[in-house]
Amino acid sequence: MRKKQFKAESKRLLDLMINSIYTHQEIFLRELISNASDAIDKLAYTALTDDKVGINREDFAITLTRGEGTLTVSDNGIGMTKDEMEENLGTIAKSGSLGFKQNMEKTEDIDIIGQFGVGFYAAFMVASSVTVISRKYGEDTAWKWVSDGADGYTIEEAERNYPGTDVIMTFKADTEEEKYSRFLEEYQLRSLVKKYSDYIRYPIRMAVTKSRIKEGSPEDKPEYESYTEVETLNSMVPLWQRSKKDVTEEEYESFYREKFFDYNKPLQTIHFSAEGTVSYKALLYIPGKAPYDFYTKDYRSGLQLYSSGVLIMENCEDLLPEHFRFVRGVVDSQDLSLNISREMLQHNRQLTLIAKNIEKKIKAALLAMQEQETEKYQEFYASFARQLKYGTVAQYGAHKEATQDLLLFHSNREGKLISLKQYVEAMTEGQEKIYYISAENLERAKKLPQVQTLSNKGYDVLLFTDEVDEFVPQTLMTYSEKPFCNAATEDLGLQTEAEKKELEDKAEKMKGTLDFLKETLGETVKEVKLNSTLGEVPVCMTPASGMSFEMEKYFKRMNPDMPFPEERILELNPDHEAVKALEIATAQDPEKAKDYAKLLYGQAQLLADLPLSDPAEYASLICKLMK
Ligand code: ADP
Repeated sequence: MRKKQFKAESKRLLDLMINSIYTHQEIFLRELISNASDAIDKLAYTALTDDKVGINREDFAITLTRGEGTLTVSDNGIGMTKDEMEENLGTIAKSGSLGFKQNMEKTEDIDIIGQFGVGFYAAFMVASSVTVISRKYGEDTAWKWVSDGADGYTIEEAERNYPGTDVIMTFKADTEEEKYSRFLEEYQLRSLVKKYSDYIRYPIRMAVTKSRIKEGSPEDKPEYESYTEVETLNSMVPLWQRSKKDVTEEEYESFYREKFFDYNKPLQTIHFSAEGTVSYKALLYIPGKAPYDFYTKDYRSGLQLYSSGVLIMENCEDLLPEHFRFVRGVVDSQDLSLNISREMLQHNRQLTLIAKNIEKKIKAALLAMQEQETEKYQEFYASFARQLKYGTVAQYGAHKEATQDLLLFHSNREGKLISLKQYVEAMTEGQEKIYYISAENLERAKKLPQVQTLSNKGYDVLLFTDEVDEFVPQTLMTYSEKPFCNAATEDLGLQTEAEKKELEDKAEKMKGTLDFLKETLGETVKEVKLNSTLGEVPVCMTPASGMSFEMEKYFKRMNPDMPFPEERILELNPDHEAVKALEIATAQDPEKAKDYAKLLYGQAQLLADLPLSDPAEYASLICKLMK
């Protein structure tokens, strides 16, 4: 029989895997058992709507059989056709992430196999040859697939009495360093099943040797005999079905790691059951870190949906609102009618109810963490802040009730992240608005003139450094009835009526200077006006469009080809020495006044953290002053 070759990528990965990456050989068993369990899930699901399957739920099982140097993992699941065997067992890198895998060659801790669904190939870590005999449900013919590693495989017709799959591993010969035969020991297999596959919902059976007192042996000197008995090795009861008080922290953790292929501890576990219109159990986890693909379209969110222990849907997105898509977990409800199709499930009322409740639970858990375990929350926030912000601004704030209290921003006064609630609670007497301002980083934000002004007044400012930040106040408009105020573009509202009047009078008096400036600077400024709240600085630049400079930068990055009107307003501090100097020069020495105008404009740009429009001219003007 001609050997067929594995696809090229598979071959490379297979070599890589067998030879170097993974030192944890024992997980081969977990992988094969999971595959067997998935195959049974599929047949069990079919059985719900198809009487012809003829297997009762109780009869589904996974069997481990030890032989001379062999171990067989059998299931009575859905089985594979010839084509499916070729397709499924002949290609490893279905996920196409081979590049990523190679980068990790040196990282032994990473369970690359489970993570990328190359599970079946794990068998080759311990076996020199693997035979798969499988019969697909609904077909009469079985097929035998044989491979002894990276070389390729053969496939031929075979016999099997009922649908399902046997994976027969012929173990590698023991060497000095590796004792592969240990995986054939009863004790080892039993503990591996406990460790990795305890929650598999179907019995994992194996013939085990036991000993008993020989019948008729004298009571004072009992004789023992050994006998074999088929035993179920796993406890089967899914973790989420157990009562909270009976589950240890370690059990929650290891379940999470295995189920969701995350090697970090979950940050928080939320386990609850609900009774009422719909009864269900949910076991949810808030991950400690965002998965590497979290912010890409490859990430699949959703919760696993079970009905009475049968997996209905792997990633049920309808159970989890988009803004909490980082949550992983399982929902099991016996109330969901089982034989509805997956499409119909999406419009299921019960599902909507569960989803609503789950959203509330997640929000409550996160809020509690924010209030009681600040550091932990910050860790969470470091990974998922963006998702919460996206969630807040999505659909014009339709979900803000769920997310706005979970947001944190950097407080200028506190020097740390605070919530909007904390901001409002700490607002100074007389303060009407929630002030925020954006900059490239915190250092720059702190130095913006508006921040100085507000801080002189005793008001806190939220410093934004993430490009999505500004969308949040623009969407929310208010929080706790306090309006947001973009300190860079909007009136800070700091002046009394009398002060405003006084400023108007000053502007009237300085009209000549203001007009001169406008004329000198020409198109570059839309307006020149006075601002009496500037404190130490002589000038300030604000965008005439109402869109902050950071926003402008953002939109320019997004649409580099779109023309962008850069309309600026130049604001002068009437009490500043430099402005007074300009005023005098305007009257006495127009040439000098022109230089001053350009210098002030340049300073305004620098203070606003904008590039100078003409750095060479600015430098030469400064030199001229220094002479
Ligand atoms: P994964 O399970 O992550 O998809 P594997 O390499 O473990 O990757 O398996 C590839 C595919 O082979 C499975 O998705 C499944 O379709 C098929 N398969 C593996 N083992 C079995 C089995 N025991 N019964 C039926 N199909 C199986």
